[in-house]
Amino acid sequence: MSALVIHNGKIYIEKHHFEEAVLVMDGIIKAVGSNDAILAAAPRDAKLYDAKGRTVVPGFNDSHQHLQSVGENLASIQLLGADSIAEVKRRVRAFIEKNEPAAGTVLHGTGWNQDYFTDEKRVLVRTDLDDMAPENPLILERACGHILTASSSALELAGITGKTEPLPGGAIDLDENGEPTGVIRENACSQVLSIMPKETVESIMEKLCLAMDHAAECGVTSVQSMDMRPGKWRETWEAYKRVQTEAPTLRVYQQVNFMEPESFKEFINEGFKTGDGDPFLKIGPLKMFLDGSLGARTALMRKPYNDDASTCGIPTITKECLDEMIKTAQENGFSVIVHAIGDGAIDMALTAYEKVIKNGENPLRHGIVHCQITDMPMLERFKKSDILALVQPIFLHYDMTVVEDRVGKELAGTSYAFETLRKLGVHESFGTDSPVEDLNAINNLYCAVTRKNLKGQPERGFYPDECMDIYDAVDAYTYESAYAEFEENVKGRIKPGYYADMVILSQDIFTIPSDEIINTKVDATIVDGRFVYER
Ligand SMILES: [Zn+2]
Repeated sequence: MSALVIHNGKIYIEKHHFEEAVLVMDGIIKAVGSNDAILAAAPRDAKLYDAKGRTVVPGFNDSHQHLQSVGENLASIQLLGADSIAEVKRRVRAFIEKNEPAAGTVLHGTGWNQDYFTDEKRVLVRTDLDDMAPENPLILERACGHILTASSSALELAGITGKTEPLPGGAIDLDENGEPTGVIRENACSQVLSIMPKETVESIMEKLCLAMDHAAECGVTSVQSMDMRPGKWRETWEAYKRVQTEAPTLRVYQQVNFMEPESFKEFINEGFKTGDGDPFLKIGPLKMFLDGSLGARTALMRKPYNDDASTCGIPTITKECLDEMIKTAQENGFSVIVHAIGDGAIDMALTAYEKVIKNGENPLRHGIVHCQITDMPMLERFKKSDILALVQPIFLHYDMTVVEDRVGKELAGTSYAFETLRKLGVHESFGTDSPVEDLNAINNLYCAVTRKNLKGQPERGFYPDECMDIYDAVDAYTYESAYAEFEENVKGRIKPGYYADMVILSQDIFTIPSDEIINTKVDATIVDGRFVYER
């Protein structure tokens, strides 16, 4: 029996209700109440933790992100935010100094963007990279993921010369002498990326551990994670099973990605269904993509883009296939969630769900991830069929700079409608879609409450009627995320019977001005009654 008492805290129970202390026994919350009551109830050998008046909330539960990719990014050279070619060089050098890779090991980095370079506003070329890592083949992917630059030795290893044919839909840039510049585009990127070492169960485990440590730092105690894909899911599942055996620090619910019935049925035939697993690793819903992104104008719209009348975006699945997948999922006990950003894709998802949801009852808790471009009638359809919304407030940080251009002011005004969804009574949960954005839960809360970017703009917030109350934002990130995985009776609250997953914050987010939420630090993260992170 191990017992823990956190006392002298401001422990969030539910809206406007706080207690001073919590008693945990063997990873489960046994009681909450006043300092005196809880200290009196605790066994004599209980470990005491004085919260010194700080605020304690349930652990954050990220309802959609990609943990394995988060780990891959952490294991590679991170170039996001590099503001010059010199800075890219400095980061590559620092990575080599820290990790001391053997000569000849292929190095990989992501996140550069020449638009941010202040020394020379140009794409990186192979000679830049040769200079950065003379001993190692080096591949640096641009932030968009559609362009990469390879060093001379990386090109050589990949067998790419001036005469190499790019794959259809790709390009290998050549200089005036007909030699590759190192810049590789779109489908041709795979011709270079093939030199990267093949993932093994062990290499995936290493990356998952990196990502899990980062989650703990961020106060994230549960993730709903899309890592399993056709052809590759076995290694990932095996790696998770092994990582989660000893003192795991993060609870994981797998959003499994299949896009056509054959491979999905194969997966089902292995005996999987939503909810299988244990408290640290479960099979979640089937996850499908219906469209692309707003930035790239591939999100599917009902009308042509406001800033490009030639396109409505791109559907990534047919209506017939979507219907068949949902039917297969329903028959086999799978929940379904779909990636839908544009109003065309969201309409398509709602229509498909409405065919199987009767009398507003959605027992499998089918949902829509992203839910960005919406109008009022669509939002009401979420409520009518009890369809879940899995949203990412942090997306406002970038999207507020493009959404009015893309869809016009009128539609922008009813989009990212997080408060309207809540008021309608829709089950709405928060995530980050990391590594698209960082796993940072504080920034995500800040965006939900202020509707400002991380620089505090615009002053009044972007369509501020949609600002959420801090209590509702915390609930969306904890209790509602738990609802999305059928765990609302054991996760997302600090109450008897719930898992002891909690976060201690450096300041009281419930009373400080909302602009100051962004400066809050995660002081400690507790999972299953164990401290897994302390600042
Ligand atoms: Zn995603």
